[in-house]
Amino acid sequence: MQQIWLKFGTLGKAYNKHSSGNDQFDAWETFERTCADLDKELAENNRAGITVNSSLLFKIWSHIADGSEPEPASSTPYRLQPVRSSDFAMVKCQMLAIFKGYNGSSIPTDRLHMRIIRDLTHFLFKQFLRARLHENLPHPQLLNLGGNPTLRGLGLPPGFEEFVKRVLNRTLQFYHLRKCQDTLPCQGWHTYGEKYYYNEEGFE
Ligand SMILES: [Zn+2]
Repeated sequence: MQQIWLKFGTLGKAYNKHSSGNDQFDAWETFERTCADLDKELAENNRAGITVNSSLLFKIWSHIADGSEPEPASSTPYRLQPVRSSDFAMVKCQMLAIFKGYNGSSIPTDRLHMRIIRDLTHFLFKQFLRARLHENLPHPQLLNLGGNPTLRGLGLPPGFEEFVKRVLNRTLQFYHLRKCQDTLPCQGWHTYGEKYYYNEEGFE
């Protein structure tokens, strides 16, 4: 616990960069630090159940993806940031439909994670075929890809797969960890310091 405090200056509900003397951080660094609790464990190992509310999941997913936008070019050049790639723009348009496919289901988090990755892979594979990128592949490689498409085989930008998986991990962990626990719950989407929380009411 002490280590997390030292590394991220955040323990407990709120992360407040002003009161913790962290005002030297820019928007992106601050956002990354508020995700410390979400990165502690992986959704792919989380067996706790989720009852999917697709509007809420999409709201969380957009919040996490948008938080990665203001990364300054001094940190990673823009052309190398997966969040700015055209592939990610396509993923962004597709996510709501993917979440809607599970709306109302109760499912362990690790299974939901696996299924969403599978859905995303199939979606990107279809885009890949549509763009006729497979015509450049040697035949055996193409057969392999068609039988079992993976994100890695699709020639996505460097770091893309890791980025998408990180956004999804944070989204699913957020669902568990950032539910407002107040006895008189606050309305909808709200903050404590720099950290966001939700109350499910209002996300229909
Ligand atoms: Zn609250």
